[in-house]
Amino acid sequence: MSVWKLSAGTACVVGKKQLKTDVLPTTAYVMLGEKCLNNCRFCAQSHSSTARADRLARITWPDIPAQEAAAAIAAAFEAGRLKRVCLQVVRTGQSWQAGVAALESLTRESAIPVCIASAIETVEQAGELVARGADRICIALDAATPDIDRQVKDGQWTRRHELLQRCASQLPGRASTHLIVGLGESEEAMLKTIQECLEQGITVGLFAFTPVPGTAWADRRPPDIGRYRRVQIGHYLLRQGYSPVLLQFCDGQLAAIALPVKELLSLLADGKAFETSGCPDCNRPYYNERPGGSLYNYPRPLTPAETRQAIAESGLLAATAVKVLEGCL
Ligand code: SF4
Repeated sequence: MSVWKLSAGTACVVGKKQLKTDVLPTTAYVMLGEKCLNNCRFCAQSHSSTARADRLARITWPDIPAQEAAAAIAAAFEAGRLKRVCLQVVRTGQSWQAGVAALESLTRESAIPVCIASAIETVEQAGELVARGADRICIALDAATPDIDRQVKDGQWTRRHELLQRCASQLPGRASTHLIVGLGESEEAMLKTIQECLEQGITVGLFAFTPVPGTAWADRRPPDIGRYRRVQIGHYLLRQGYSPVLLQFCDGQLAAIALPVKELLSLLADGKAFETSGCPDCNRPYYNERPGGSLYNYPRPLTPAETRQAIAESGLLAATAVKVLEGCL
């Protein structure tokens, strides 16, 4: 019997698991397969990881029979509780077949948009997934630079980056990638890669490195929240079409933004810069953080107080400027 792993939040949305949480996912996260052929040092599914097989990031993924899961996801979509599915296909000898079979099951059951993050090797394969009904494809860069990739992944960054660019040019509006903050890159390097992706029409889902017990990097620290906030702000301004020359760096850190303070504050005032980024309707609640702790990615709109706090955490504006926000929000 074929089984899919649904993230705990997804299993709750589709009525297969009870969960105490204040925010549920708006995208169904489905993991296909386990124990990847790759050996990314941060990943619970990597070849050498001794983490539980039902872990990815800090989330557990209960098994659900495939047909039952597809039908439950379709029902939740029809009821308006889900807006997208993300198939995260672990690289195994069967990943292509598993991804295609899941895509077919989902598209047979409903019109829910499906994003597939799989071991795509060629533009033709990406095109075939779209022809078979995928709304978007994701090729995860994870690391911001080839150097960081050599330390944490497989040294194939340049090949993956070129493939992603070719997919974006041949399948406009359908390519996404993931970038992880906190693998040792500078903010400048991360924002440069983000800028290049956006210029090519590639959507960026930003993640914070999360140490997972059993992985090679279990003892490393997650990124400082200020660093993450600065990257979020830079990413947001670039997404809004602001020029990268406005981002001013000092020793690789985003030190200032060359905009009038009032303009910058009003741009950030709705808190959107700090919400989860990526494909439409992807909110990934508690993917990188514990409930109750500091949220790297807000899976819901921020309150005015949370927005003020996030701006203050960035350290980009003097405390007095943040106080202006109190009148602004
Ligand atoms: S951004 Fe979200 S929906 Fe898109 S591939 Fe990443 S996790 Fe999946």
